Amino acid sequence: MNRRSFIKNTGVASLGIGLNIDKTFSSSNQKDVDPIVIATWDVKNATNKAWKVISENGSSLDAVELGCMVEEANKNGQSVGIGGLPDREGNVTLDACIMDHQGNCGSVVYLQDIKHAISVARLVMEKTPHVMLAGDGAKKFALSMGFQQENLLTEKSKNDWIKWKESEQYKPIINIENHDTIGMLAIDKNKNISGGCTTSGLAYKMQGRVGDSPIIGSGLFIDNEIGGAVATGLGEEVMKTIGSFLVVELMRQGYSPDEACKTAIERIIKKPGSDYKNFQVGYIALNKKGETGSHAIQRGFSMTKYDKTGNFNIDSPYFHKQG
Ligand code: ASP
Repeated sequence: MNRRSFIKNTGVASLGIGLNIDKTFSSSNQKDVDPIVIATWDVKNATNKAWKVISENGSSLDAVELGCMVEEANKNGQSVGIGGLPDREGNVTLDACIMDHQGNCGSVVYLQDIKHAISVARLVMEKTPHVMLAGDGAKKFALSMGFQQENLLTEKSKNDWIKWKESEQYKPIINIENHDTIGMLAIDKNKNISGGCTTSGLAYKMQGRVGDSPIIGSGLFIDNEIGGAVATGLGEEVMKTIGSFLVVELMRQGYSPDEACKTAIERIIKKPGSDYKNFQVGYIALNKKGETGSHAIQRGFSMTKYDKTGNFNIDSPYFHKQG
């Protein structure tokens, strides 16, 4: 029995819950699909890089890694890579993960002093028998792979942190500037889907805190037969609902990417006692047909999409209209 027939035979449908598993998706009847890249937030330089890779016959895995690296190297971005806002003690700590079309994945958590967390995550996937490396072990591995150590705390982020320390009031910031975590999904010319996700996490988090972004299934999930999804926003809420996996599973049941993202957002909002008015979560999704979608709790989230028609930033639909 292969994996697909196992899912069909033992999935929730066979328990009588009535979900229409795999009603729309079958790798065998897939029509031609054009390459595409989507990313969380307004990151046209990053999607531009990724598009260049896939339009020159590169793989979706290379595309998402190189695309994410653009923002990791951008000192002015305060939520990813160098320039990321620190934790309460002033440490910049990075979380990232990557997943390929074969379901392989790699992840780093609490990585310090190495800006390209996405590339370290890829090497965890490719060069180790593990999925996730944390903290000192992740850094030691990165150094052994030739990465250079550098101070990731820029003057601007240091000054913002010093200012924050005057009040030390911790509240999740709903949208940092024009972007937070960078999550990227791509389909290449071989119709293979990959995804990546990279972040410095929540600004002024407790020391040691790890968010959703490096957690496979929460911050990112890819199933090459169905599609992919990636999350941004308050990671604790994404983790409690295993958000990206949920979006992909909803697409497996026949939901469009838009409907799947919306339903996953509603899952957070409808939780008893949900404080959703005070935090942001956004999802973007891509299915095997190349259809895309997004949804957020609050106004201000957007998706960047690069396909054969161009590189566009698209405002996301959102739930909380009074924000
Ligand atoms: N999801 C990230 C985290 O919780 C942060 C973000 O997207 O702003 O670490």
